[in-house]
Amino acid sequence: MTTGKLFILSAPSGAGKTTLLKRVMADLPGLAFSVSHTTRLPRSGEHDGVDYHFISRSQFETMREQGVFLEWAEVHGNLYGTSRPDLLAQLATGLDIILDLDVQGTAILRNSAAIPSASLFITPPSLSELERRLRGRGTDSEETILLRLKNAGKEMQAAADYEYLIVNDRLEQAVDTLRAIVIAERSRGHRLPTGQSIEILLGA
Ligand code: ADP
Ligand code: 5GP
Repeated sequence: MTTGKLFILSAPSGAGKTTLLKRVMADLPGLAFSVSHTTRLPRSGEHDGVDYHFISRSQFETMREQGVFLEWAEVHGNLYGTSRPDLLAQLATGLDIILDLDVQGTAILRNSAAIPSASLFITPPSLSELERRLRGRGTDSEETILLRLKNAGKEMQAAADYEYLIVNDRLEQAVDTLRAIVIAERSRGHRLPTGQSIEILLGA
């Protein structure tokens, strides 16, 4: 059985992380997305249990007090956290797990690293393009967009702490880069590009 690896992805809001992830997960087998809990309201098109587990602040606080979260952070005024039991259950399947974390959550997980991980930072080509994308997405209020833009510069200063940097300028090129990183990390772990163990070749 293969041992799953964590792929931790961070980006300023609107950089295109969700778009990139969906593209790469659609054509690369063996990847599962870690569904976080959040107190943020769902955006149009988001589904409970798929994009996030959408919960109230009091539910989040109860779970936090019970020690459910492996890591949690307050980001842009909302709470976000990774459920420890959910993540362990996903890892037990042998799949590689993709975590969408902010820079605080990444630091926590990196420091408690009992599980092998690779960290990737996705940046837009410029802050003006980031603003264009946030507005073009049409999902956030003006107040939310301004707060996310204000936080973007600070988040981008953490990019150097990550192992990989992906500039999401031309989408196709960024998709190719993300796919290549996952395949390279699997090869480093002596696994096939699909994520399977080399032992699978012996059965053929
Ligand atoms: P994030 O998950 O990082 O907040 P999204 O994936 O929701 O960002 O992308 C924000 C917006 O930018 C979306 O409308 C998406 O279609 C668009 N977008 C993503 N990547 C690119 C790109 N390379 N060029 C132009 N627009 C992009
Ligand atoms: P959004 O509201 O745009 O989906 O996400 C806002 C921010 O929260 C992003 O930086 C995203 O990476 C981060 N985030 C999402 N889930 C988690 C989580 O479980 N833990 C932490 N620390 N950050 C998260």
